[in-house]
Amino acid sequence: MISPKITGRIISQGIILFCFLFLLTSIAQATENNRTECFKQVLCYTTAEDDRSARLALQNNFPFPIRISLELTGHNTEPAAAAINLAVPALGTQALFSLKAKRGTTWRYRWTSEVHPDLPFKGHDPDLLYDLPFASQHVFPVIQPPGGRLSHFGPQKWAIDWALPEGTEILAAREGRVIALRENSDQGGPTESTKGEENFIWIAHSDGTVGNYLHLRQAGVVVSVGDEVQRGQLIGYSGNTGFSTAPHLHFHVSSARKTGPAFQSHPVHFKNP
Ligand SMILES: [Zn+2]
Repeated sequence: MISPKITGRIISQGIILFCFLFLLTSIAQATENNRTECFKQVLCYTTAEDDRSARLALQNNFPFPIRISLELTGHNTEPAAAAINLAVPALGTQALFSLKAKRGTTWRYRWTSEVHPDLPFKGHDPDLLYDLPFASQHVFPVIQPPGGRLSHFGPQKWAIDWALPEGTEILAAREGRVIALRENSDQGGPTESTKGEENFIWIAHSDGTVGNYLHLRQAGVVVSVGDEVQRGQLIGYSGNTGFSTAPHLHFHVSSARKTGPAFQSHPVHFKNP
């Protein structure tokens, strides 16, 4: 993510929670400003502000559509609040909101958003058995189960974190196609500045769900975008990048939603080794 600019009296702070969950806060005062902040150079938010109004648009540089949900709250603005859930076409741009300040007032606003590949969802089979995403002779403790209070709630409710030592082989839990990845980050730790800095692999499954493998080590991906991978295939090596208190693998399976949050996660059951 590109570092937020500080221009005049505009202060912007961008935070990305794990792979999909974005939190961006803006405080606007009487200065004219246009700025663009990109998430991994792929999802670029452009804010246009002047003394009395603000607009936000999203440029999607992925070669597939993106679903975005956004919640806006304002102080002395019209509207005072909004919630949207929109599709942004592949390599396309979508206006997200515009607001105006009430006359003769100080004003500010903030928004949070979530994004997910907008793949056609055919329903997740609750009886489908996944492979463990690491070699079955290993036993690694689960350090955050589904519903974990640190971060496994809301759309990420069904995520699992295993305490994999750095450099452990990560295997595809289910066959599919690699649609996106990152492996150039060396930033990780339990601090705000590491949010959104995780290396990751997204694998699209035949039912329209996406397998999310997060926090890989730098240069720790051995597949390419477009690859068809088989269950049990080596796809990368675990690490500790992004917002992470210790080396681990975060895994969840999710699909896009057309109402409310942009995605939901699904319960995943694993074959007994
Ligand atoms: Zn996690």
